[in-house]
Amino acid sequence: MNSRKRVLNMRITIQKSEFEKIYNYALLQLPDEACGLIAGLEMEDGSREIRKVYLLTNTDHTNEHFSIDPKEQLQAVREMRAEGLKPLGNWHSHPETPSRPSEEDKRLANDPNASYLILSLEEKERPVLNAFHVESVNGDKVARKEELVIVQEVENG
Ligand SMILES: [Zn+2]
Repeated sequence: MNSRKRVLNMRITIQKSEFEKIYNYALLQLPDEACGLIAGLEMEDGSREIRKVYLLTNTDHTNEHFSIDPKEQLQAVREMRAEGLKPLGNWHSHPETPSRPSEEDKRLANDPNASYLILSLEEKERPVLNAFHVESVNGDKVARKEELVIVQEVENG
């Protein structure tokens, strides 16, 4: 077989103000994990731009895992569609562990097209945000890191 697999552009950008929303909200939710959704645009080359983040309720209320409140999730998806944005994936915080998917995170990541953002607050003053794709490979869930860029928005006029 020599069919060429399409190489996806794994670049995703988030505006600094949206990043700060996630960071501040995650700090407020400590010691619990915080979670929410990301919405934005998908470019023709496969790269993605996060335009808006949603700060939602972790109904598990623990520091080890999260479940996004399903009603809030539905409402957020409606809202993003109404604004012409696409659901791009979700985000959650790791209050005490590094910014990479846990085994449970991988198990629960069922959309191979989604971007999964993880904010580590291991060092509260130095938040680390990474983005991942999670795919099933021979029955195993494999996480691949995306190129996440935090962009400073340009002031208008
Ligand atoms: Zn996690």
